[in-house]
Amino acid sequence: MLKLETPLINISGIAPRFLIKLKKLGIETVKDLLWHFPFRYEDFSQIYKIADLQPNQQTTVQGIIKEVEIRRSWRRHMIIVEALIEDETGAVKAVWFNQPYVKNALRPGRIANFSGKVVYSNEEICLSNPAYEFIEGRQTETMHTGRLVPIYPETRGLTSKGIRFLIKPIVENMDKLKDFLPNEILKSANLPEINSALAKIHFPETIEQAETSRKRFAFQELFLMQMASLTEKQRLNSQNAPALKIDLNYLKDLLKQLPFELTQSQKVSLWEILKDLEKSRPMSRLLEGDVGSGKTVVAALAGLQTALNGFQSAFLAPTEVLASQHYKTIKTLFPDFEGGLALLTASQNKAYYGHDLEAELKKTRLAQEISAGKIKIIIGTHALIQKNASFNNLAFLVVDEQHRFGVEQRAALANNKWESEDGKTFIPHTLSMSATPIPRTLALSIFGDLDLSMISELPLGRKEIITKIVAPANRDQAYGFIRGQVKKGRQVFVICPRIEQTVDDGQLTIDSLKQLEVKNVKAEYEKLSQRIFPDLKVAMLHGKMKAKEKESVMNAFKNNETGILVSTSVIEVGVDVPNASIMMIESADRFGLASLYQFRGRVGRGGHQSFCFLFTDSSSAATHKRLTAMIKAKNGFELAEKDLEIRGPGEILGKAQSGIPDLAMNSLKDITLVKASREAAIKILNSDPALKKHSLLKNELEKFKNRYITA
Ligand code: ADP
Ligand code: MG
Repeated sequence: MLKLETPLINISGIAPRFLIKLKKLGIETVKDLLWHFPFRYEDFSQIYKIADLQPNQQTTVQGIIKEVEIRRSWRRHMIIVEALIEDETGAVKAVWFNQPYVKNALRPGRIANFSGKVVYSNEEICLSNPAYEFIEGRQTETMHTGRLVPIYPETRGLTSKGIRFLIKPIVENMDKLKDFLPNEILKSANLPEINSALAKIHFPETIEQAETSRKRFAFQELFLMQMASLTEKQRLNSQNAPALKIDLNYLKDLLKQLPFELTQSQKVSLWEILKDLEKSRPMSRLLEGDVGSGKTVVAALAGLQTALNGFQSAFLAPTEVLASQHYKTIKTLFPDFEGGLALLTASQNKAYYGHDLEAELKKTRLAQEISAGKIKIIIGTHALIQKNASFNNLAFLVVDEQHRFGVEQRAALANNKWESEDGKTFIPHTLSMSATPIPRTLALSIFGDLDLSMISELPLGRKEIITKIVAPANRDQAYGFIRGQVKKGRQVFVICPRIEQTVDDGQLTIDSLKQLEVKNVKAEYEKLSQRIFPDLKVAMLHGKMKAKEKESVMNAFKNNETGILVSTSVIEVGVDVPNASIMMIESADRFGLASLYQFRGRVGRGGHQSFCFLFTDSSSAATHKRLTAMIKAKNGFELAEKDLEIRGPGEILGKAQSGIPDLAMNSLKDITLVKASREAAIKILNSDPALKKHSLLKNELEKFKNRYITA
């Protein structure tokens, strides 16, 4: 009998060449193979009489092989095998192309099933390339013909047929698995237990069987996700975070210093955060808000309250540009802050102590200042994580653009433990921020352990950004418009998908030629600075430049020393230049909706009417539909709903970072199933919080967490 962990290598009868192919699909154990689910089924379940065959049918016939011959088609250099199949109603020809071995396999006189498409050619009907399976003397049911036939993700040299050959005996010889989903849950959700679900997802008798089996596995992943986030919440609730005192007078003071009034939803969000900080349980909150909705100032205000209590805050940003922008924002908005404000990235180390007192420090020196607690607000990139041992009393952690960080990276800081003088252990309150708007329902199912704050409005006085798709013919007109705007003092972003031309001349294929059409920063920079706008100041920015260079280009642009900035997506997140009023995106069809939306959010941040031009050479209807959706969406949340509809959660969340298993990802669209899984998880945890009575489930949950959520 086979166990799930059994390596396929130990199973006699699987040829080494198959093992290699399987490995290509990431399949090395019995479990991997069993969990290689079909993505659809071909319906060959009905056996037809030969007399009833109709052209274009997918069909199975059962008959006796009368004669077989092989010949070469001289016109098309193909080897053709033809067989004549007969049942009691008539005879039909079956034809195979370039599969000479079929000739030897089909011996006249044998009875077999033939499943395939009925085609009409040379004034007769025949079966084209049918799958066949001998049925005389069979002990087991068929797997390729006369049934619903599973179609799998394949790889070169390993077809669905091959995969069926491998899976069928394994399904039949498996040790019975114990189901970790409790019986009462299966019952109330109306789902099959694991053994029959496994057998039927591969070899169902009906489509409904296949669907309920698939649903069970989707449910199982969703349920584990919910269990993971609910138990994470339990875990957090059993830890201490410092309970802060909120000083309302200080807060009022700070608000008076701001050059603007907070929007209503900024106020509400800030209030929710401050209320959390007052508690001795760690906050775990997600602050969502469109680009430009003003999340930074909200987080900064909470950071200042934390500092007033004598504790440290850390702001984790995904890029150097963003980190130094946060540093500058806080410095500019609160110039009197004396608690120590540090910027710590791979290439920058400085500290600000209020009243224009700023110092560039050696890395080690800055680290000392931080670990001695002399710096209260620390802003940085990944560099912070590597040095995370050196905080003194981290009480408030802000993770900006949280989806840009891996789960482990976030966890490294969030679990940063420290002891107070009276020996109590604390972890920080955590605020994650995201401009990728995630619909509330979706957020609840993925981030079930997080509380949500949403900034739903933009600051007053922002005008709607006029967005247009520009066809190649109108390019010159757009350039003319841009010149006019820059002459009026405005600034322009030009975004390209690539840094430079990257096609290997040795391999000119249609694909690589298509790549040539994709705009790149270096070429556009040359073109714009020398030919189109020689009279204007043009600069470029991309990820291959040194941090210092990027910084100075960005600063020059911020100070309006350059009018046009040609850039890759490095400016995607968060960069703030209120005077920029035009966002021009080259090869717009190359970007996802979420990215396009982010880009557009770079403009319209000041009082000027702003524009977004989407350049595309593509005339495909799908592209235009997608780009139009982006134009029509009123806010990011609406666009997110749309994305969820069109392409599923993967597009919104970015698969790699979200750490969500595929099957669960696809089923997140199914809100009813998500809700059912959440309710089931709550029910189990209420009745058995430590999962003492559900040891199998507990085990599986641990495995799931290790795989996906290293929190
Ligand atoms: P995001 O939410 O995208 O991170 P930022 O925090 O970068 O947005 O804020 C965008 C800009 O809006 C900043 O220049 C900030 O100072 C400004 N801002 C924030 N809140 C307000 C407000 N209530 N009124 C006017 N401007 C604001
Ligand atoms: Mg931001």
